[in-house]
Amino acid sequence: MDFTYPPELDTFRAEIRSWLEQHLTGEFLELGNGEDLGADTWPLRCRWEQEMGAGGWIGLEWPTAYGGREVSAMESLVFAEEYARASGPTRAGTFGEGLIGPTLVHFGSDIQKERFLGPILRGEEIWCQGFSEPGAGSDLAGLATKARLEGDQWVIDGQKVWTSQAHLSEWIFVLARTDGAAAKHKGISFFLVPLDQPGIEIRPLVDMLGDQHFCEVFFDGATTAADMIVGEPGDGWKIAMATLGFERGTAFVGQLKKFATELDIVIGLARERGLTSDPVMRQRLAQSHIGLELMRFGLFRTVTSVVRYGRPGPEASIGKLQWSKWHQELTELCTDILGAEATLDHHHTTGLLHDLQHSFLFARSQTIYAGSSEVQHNIIGERVLGLPKD
Ligand SMILES: Cc1cc2nc3c(=O)[nH]c(=O)nc-3n(C[C@H](O)[C@H](O)[C@H](O)COP(=O)(O)OP(=O)(O)OC[C@H]3O[C@@H](n4cnc5c(N)ncnc54)[C@H](O)[C@@H]3O)c2cc1C
Repeated sequence: MDFTYPPELDTFRAEIRSWLEQHLTGEFLELGNGEDLGADTWPLRCRWEQEMGAGGWIGLEWPTAYGGREVSAMESLVFAEEYARASGPTRAGTFGEGLIGPTLVHFGSDIQKERFLGPILRGEEIWCQGFSEPGAGSDLAGLATKARLEGDQWVIDGQKVWTSQAHLSEWIFVLARTDGAAAKHKGISFFLVPLDQPGIEIRPLVDMLGDQHFCEVFFDGATTAADMIVGEPGDGWKIAMATLGFERGTAFVGQLKKFATELDIVIGLARERGLTSDPVMRQRLAQSHIGLELMRFGLFRTVTSVVRYGRPGPEASIGKLQWSKWHQELTELCTDILGAEATLDHHHTTGLLHDLQHSFLFARSQTIYAGSSEVQHNIIGERVLGLPKD
């Protein structure tokens, strides 16, 4: 296998590096690339989004007709590598750039493209994803939120939950049932809904980290204009599956870089505490290193699929299973190395101990979001191994 990059990517890499050196400085650099998207740093994060938009670094893969740069999967990988290398801040606009933007490019009306794509590319409007409900997570098609057309607007009633950054966003894309009589997957529609209105109540949930990462969102006669449905009534399931399929694997590049840094820190802690002569500890550290290398090669495999077939394929589930489990094991190992010290963190503190404990606790959610481990096993069983459906 040849892991060298084609030389023509060097110019693009140099362009990215030079822009980041000039713009990712001072308070932007201090934002860091942690998972913690607290309300206190949110305005600065949004300013960074606008800085990136002004530099033309949002929507790189989008067609030029809609303001993107139509870069290749390899160029996208190079951008992700450089952004991670420079410790670029965790993005406020992920849902806009990564999910609803590409959805509107493919399925949106001219009015929707005109209205929404520009503000996403300029980092001016922040989106969140309203799919999960109290009774519908893995079984998303079981959702109960309803929408009906009344005159020139859709009226929405129901509840979403675990909606990341809803309390910090301007718009939400929502799946709602528009035909109760149709088959489960058929009666669902896809809506674009403004969050700032009397029919919507957003209640942030405090997670076990003490953070307000996600929310409950209540729709009680919430409204959106009649032309804010994406596709036709009943197209929602098909469009939502496409939305979830736009992930091209390159988002994992940044995470891999963070994992490598974390592993280095854990090895350093083990050395400091004289634990590297312990055979069990050595074995666990070596396993973590091997796991990291396997994930790195898995990433190249995913990107190769994207270059060849335009999408990551169901094998991406293997990667999701691998990294979420690996990260839980690494953070457990770190906690074992720290011993009693690991219990001393408080969520208002800062510093290395806080970051490591934050990572340990946040890793619990990683086998749940973006498809739980059990669901990934089902996908691998059915679509990779060709086993009968469960
Ligand atoms: C940090 C975080 C952020 C999130 N952000 C968002 C967001 O922004 N927007 C959004 O819409 N949602 C979001 N979610 C919700 C997430 O998509 C759901 O939690 C996930 O889909 C699982 O659904 P659930 O929580 O209802 O669990 P359930 O589906 O009820 O699952 C409960 C358990 O049963 C298992 N299970 C379920 N079905 C099967 C099956 N067929 N076979 C075997 N086992 C099964 C699951 O693996 C799990 O262990 C977020 C979740 C987290 C943790």
